[in-house]
Amino acid sequence: FIDISSLKKSYSSGLVKTEVLKGIGMKLEKGEIGVILGPSGSGKSTLMNIIGGIDSGDSGKVVVDGVEINNLSSDLLTEYRREDIGFIFQFYNLVPNLTVGENIEVVSNISKSPLNIDEVLAAVGLQDKKRRFPRELSGGEQQRVSIARAIVKNPKLLLCDEPTGALDYQTSRSILRLLQQVNKKYGTTILMITHNAAIAAMANRVFKVRSGEIVEATVNEVTVPAERIEW
Ligand code: ATP
Ligand code: MG
Repeated sequence: FIDISSLKKSYSSGLVKTEVLKGIGMKLEKGEIGVILGPSGSGKSTLMNIIGGIDSGDSGKVVVDGVEINNLSSDLLTEYRREDIGFIFQFYNLVPNLTVGENIEVVSNISKSPLNIDEVLAAVGLQDKKRRFPRELSGGEQQRVSIARAIVKNPKLLLCDEPTGALDYQTSRSILRLLQQVNKKYGTTILMITHNAAIAAMANRVFKVRSGEIVEATVNEVTVPAERIEW
C-alpha cells in the first residue's frame, strides 16, 4: 500500500545543503498500522510529509495505493491530499474560532464520504461537544476532534505525527486505543510517528529511523492492544 524506495531529500539554506533523507525504503500493507521511531531531527516528519503530499522528495519512488505520488500534477496531488490522506498532528491544529462541528466540516472534505460529522464525533466519544469551541475542551478532547476531522473523509491513509506528544499518559493511551479502533472499524491504514518505543507494540510494522536512514524494519506477528501498553 505504501511502497517507498531510494527516497532522498535535502534542504538547502544558502550554500549549506543538508541531506535529511538518505535513501529511504519502506513498505506498509493495506490495513496495517506502522510506527516510525527515531530521535529528534532524524527525518521522521519530513518522510511523513512527503508520503502525505505536503512536501516532495528530490529522488526515489513513493507509491501510495498504486499511485506514484512524486509524479502527480499539482491538481492531482491536491486531490490526493484532500481525499486520500488524513493528518493528525501533535498540537491538534484546530481553528480556534470555529466550533468542534465546524472544525470537522470546514476543514475536511466530506462531500464524497460515507461518514458524517455526528458519526465520527460519536466514534471519538464527543457526541455532546459539537457546538463547543476548542478552548472549552481538554487537550485530549481536542486531539479527539482532530482525529474525527481526519477520519470523517474516510481516508485511505491516516498519518499521525506524534499524536500523543502533548498528552498525559492516560489520555495518550485512550488516543492510541481510538486509533486502533479506527484501523479495525474502517480498515484505515495508519502510519504514526512517535519517540516512544513502547508504542511500537501496537503496530504491525516498526521502522527505526536514524539520521535520514531506516536502520531497522521489524514485523510484529502479534500486536498489543493500546490499553495494555505501559511505559
Ligand atoms: P522531531 O522528532 O524533532 O519532530 P523529525 O525526525 O521529525 O524530528 P524532521 O522535522 O523531519 O525531523 O527534520 C529533519 C531535519 O531536517 C532537521 O535537521 C531539520 O532541521 C531539517 N528540516 C526540516 N524541515 C526543514 C525545512 N523546511 N527547511 C530546512 N530544514 C528543514
Ligand atoms: Mg517531527
